[in-house]
Amino acid sequence: MQEARNTGARRPIYLDYQATTPCDPRVVDAMMPYFTERFGNPHSRNHVYGWETEEAVELARGQVAAIIGGAAREIVFTSGATESNNLALKGVAGTYKERKNHLVTVITEHKCVLESCRRLEEEGWRVTYLPVQSNGLIELADLEAAITAETALVSVMAVNNEIGVIQPLAEVGAVCRRRGVLFHTDAAQAVGKIPLDVEAMNIDLMSISGHKVYGPKGIGALYVRRRPRVRLRAQIDGGGQERGMRSGTLAPALCVGMGEACRIAAGELAVESSRLAGLRDRLLASLRDGLPDVQVNGDLVRRIPGNLSVSFPFVDGSGLIAAMKEIAVSAGSACSSGSLEPSYVLRALGVDAEMAFASLRIGLGRFTTEEDVDHAVRHIIEAVNALREESPLWQMHCEGIDIKSIEWVEH
Ligand SMILES: *Cc1c(COP(=O)(O)O)cnc(C)c1O
Repeated sequence: MQEARNTGARRPIYLDYQATTPCDPRVVDAMMPYFTERFGNPHSRNHVYGWETEEAVELARGQVAAIIGGAAREIVFTSGATESNNLALKGVAGTYKERKNHLVTVITEHKCVLESCRRLEEEGWRVTYLPVQSNGLIELADLEAAITAETALVSVMAVNNEIGVIQPLAEVGAVCRRRGVLFHTDAAQAVGKIPLDVEAMNIDLMSISGHKVYGPKGIGALYVRRRPRVRLRAQIDGGGQERGMRSGTLAPALCVGMGEACRIAAGELAVESSRLAGLRDRLLASLRDGLPDVQVNGDLVRRIPGNLSVSFPFVDGSGLIAAMKEIAVSAGSACSSGSLEPSYVLRALGVDAEMAFASLRIGLGRFTTEEDVDHAVRHIIEAVNALREESPLWQMHCEGIDIKSIEWVEH
């Protein structure tokens, strides 16, 4: 493996598994032959080069389907969950535009869902953005109230990418089925981490990403229910691959990698979940041992085991992320058009801007060890203590002054 460039410095410990995951070496092994010897176009019908890659792609399709309780023929390969979400939302909108004009989603969805909705609003669709409670979860009564006779689709993410909370999928699915609307879920953060079943949960469309489950980047899938059949207007036209829903030559190496990644994740889900829950609980308990005032963002119980989003009151947010030299984590802020903005997900929970800045998303995963967690804890405690030392507000807080009661004077 290549070391970090220019310095001999040790690379920070990777704790950002919600951003992406490394390819599992077993996945890479499965992919390798499809770059060189088995390079055929899987759509070539006339020779063995095509047949063997087609066979590999179909095996992979079955592996992806299996982890969500679907059938192989219900899986459409795409370039990633971003494309899958675009295809689900715009594809349904394209099919229903003569009959319906309304969609329902959630304000804490991934940008690719929200921006697809924005685009559809430009085209005349009405979109309801459901709020979330302070634990990050939607209220089913809000969903019930939002659905009308004009509603074509409800899109509710399975697991949030910032705070890891799990939305009540089975309950949402039941509401959608009863009200006769399609149910799409962005499951990029859920596949391989929690049990999913498109039948039991009444899911009609599900987006999946390869690189969030230890597969390669650049591939994803959209589950499209066949019974009753969900029709989608294609967004990419061409040779009619993927049953006309997504043209373009498939990348067998990537399909095989994603299939193998799903196979491994399904097999290890139970054991890995409890291992990660143990590490996450150790992480939180040690942080709370070492630091007063650690706040968890989002529901701690209805959450995937590999996520912790925490805020540190009285810490300057920009100082916090600058201090994180030994661990690779995400901040509760995003750089949008050059300026630092507090995370819209944390804001939606009612977290104030100051606290959103002073937060970290810590993502644990398959290659995280107990030593990694302990190292991260020591590093975070040191950094937060140092930043609080410098904060006059922290000093006042320690002296028992209620900061919120202070009247600030402009100079
Ligand atoms: C990562 C992610 C996406 C985007 O997936 P890509 O495969 O990178 O396009 C969409 N939704 C959620 C919730 C994600 O975490």
